[in-house]
Amino acid sequence: MSADTATAGDGARLGRHAVVIGASMAGLLAARVLADHFAHVTIFEADTPPEQAVPRAGVPQGNHVHALLAGGAKVLNRYFPALHEDLVAAGAEYGDSMIFPRMYIGGRWNLPLESGDFGYVMSRPLLEALVRKHTLALANVALRTATSVSGYLTTDDRSAVTGVTLADGEAVNADFVTDVRGRASTAAEWLKNLGYEAPERTLVGVDVGYVSFQVPARPKAERDWGLIFVTQQQIPRDTRAGGLFCIEGGRYLVTAGGFHQDYPPTDWPGFLAFFKSLPQPDIYEEIKGLEPLGPATQYRYAHYLRRHYERLQRFPTGLVLLGDALCSFNPVYGQGMTVAAREAELLDRCLQRCASGAERLENVAPGFFRGAARIIDTAWNGVTVEDFKYPQTRGQRPRGYALARWMNDRFFALSGIDPEFAMAFNRVLHLAAEPESLLKPKWLLRAALNSKRQAADFNPRPLPASS
Ligand SMILES: Cc1cc2nc3c(=O)[nH]c(=O)nc-3n(C[C@H](O)[C@H](O)[C@H](O)COP(=O)(O)OP(=O)(O)OC[C@H]3O[C@@H](n4cnc5c(N)ncnc54)[C@H](O)[C@@H]3O)c2cc1C
Repeated sequence: MSADTATAGDGARLGRHAVVIGASMAGLLAARVLADHFAHVTIFEADTPPEQAVPRAGVPQGNHVHALLAGGAKVLNRYFPALHEDLVAAGAEYGDSMIFPRMYIGGRWNLPLESGDFGYVMSRPLLEALVRKHTLALANVALRTATSVSGYLTTDDRSAVTGVTLADGEAVNADFVTDVRGRASTAAEWLKNLGYEAPERTLVGVDVGYVSFQVPARPKAERDWGLIFVTQQQIPRDTRAGGLFCIEGGRYLVTAGGFHQDYPPTDWPGFLAFFKSLPQPDIYEEIKGLEPLGPATQYRYAHYLRRHYERLQRFPTGLVLLGDALCSFNPVYGQGMTVAAREAELLDRCLQRCASGAERLENVAPGFFRGAARIIDTAWNGVTVEDFKYPQTRGQRPRGYALARWMNDRFFALSGIDPEFAMAFNRVLHLAAEPESLLKPKWLLRAALNSKRQAADFNPRPLPASS
């Protein structure tokens, strides 16, 4: 029995069978949580996830760098205590979330401080493969691959979801269904066909393009960092960002990202020139003499997409959605997996209330959606503020935009010169603490008085030694 198997509860308290639609990060986390509350959990996945940690068709974003924020790492380690060991054995690198990454954000390098929060770098397929392995190690969880779900089963009056229908017509009964089909989820249409309102949607148009290459990495012993991330120095002037991640197998995964249709080139010389044009040359210096291990992959992302299930007046019982199906963010900020992890944790808390008799299983959805909306708001408000600095960004600016933007700028500036604040700010950026934790009078005063220029001049990190 693995350590993870031992952590699942008796699994029979809330019902016999829970179904999860989709076995990506949100689906696996949901299954892990449901395993503590239901006798059996079945995950249906349209894809056939490969044995090896390689990208798959259902998750094309797996070709590109995936940052696991400290807030998400904490949740994963809590639910899968043996994951850390497996990640490291498979070649993932890890370290303090303020020292291990070299981050150029908001016009300055992060202060290299010991935060006590840990982060990992690895390929997205490796992380997913190991989370899948540990989820399926639970005795009461089963995965059916190459099995597409085509609809919900309901009671005659359609007030409750009672299972799912598969593409081949098979009907599968369940006490609880979690729909985690990602951004392309058609849950809204399925619900509409059952007589429910479709949720309102919020879109923020950013027209981001990603292009990635893999190249051979310098040995670990020659570097004191696991990833380099360089973002725009000045928005709206700059539209380019890029990340270099040390992934398993002695490889760098290098991703270029361009906003508002400044799409990165897919040829190697053009790709190098893109990195040379970033506000800091570190990634370019690291990769300029290298040859790619394969062709470029690309991904285009027109807009954030949020579906407001929390605003619906009517919703069937026995069903919740989470992950990208609720909200898919601008990928540049690396929030999706961490938000999904925090939503899974919330679902766990909701189900624990049912188990204790404080809530009925039939009533879980409204409370869950309200809580999930708060988790999404935290991530959403912090980053849309940055994206709306571009006049080209389409959509509705968040309420209180001018103040939020002013505060964001001041907080970024303060994080470059005040170590105590920098650590607190880092926790908020990593979705490991709430933004309210920053509203201390001493920091607000310093942030307000501190001039932006003073902080922008402060650059404590020298360039890494090149091989
Ligand atoms: C380019 C890009 C870069 C990103 N970078 C980061 C990052 O750095 N950090 C981060 O945290 N997040 C990042 N994200 C977001 C992250 O990938 C997602 O948040 C994460 O995968 C969780 O999504 P999900 O599980 O909800 O959905 P998905 O990952 O989209 O998975 C949905 C799953 O449902 C399955 N499915 C679909 N329909 C059916 C059906 N009818 N029946 C059965 N199965 C079905 C699919 O095959 C798939 O496995 C990035 C996203 C993109 C696009």
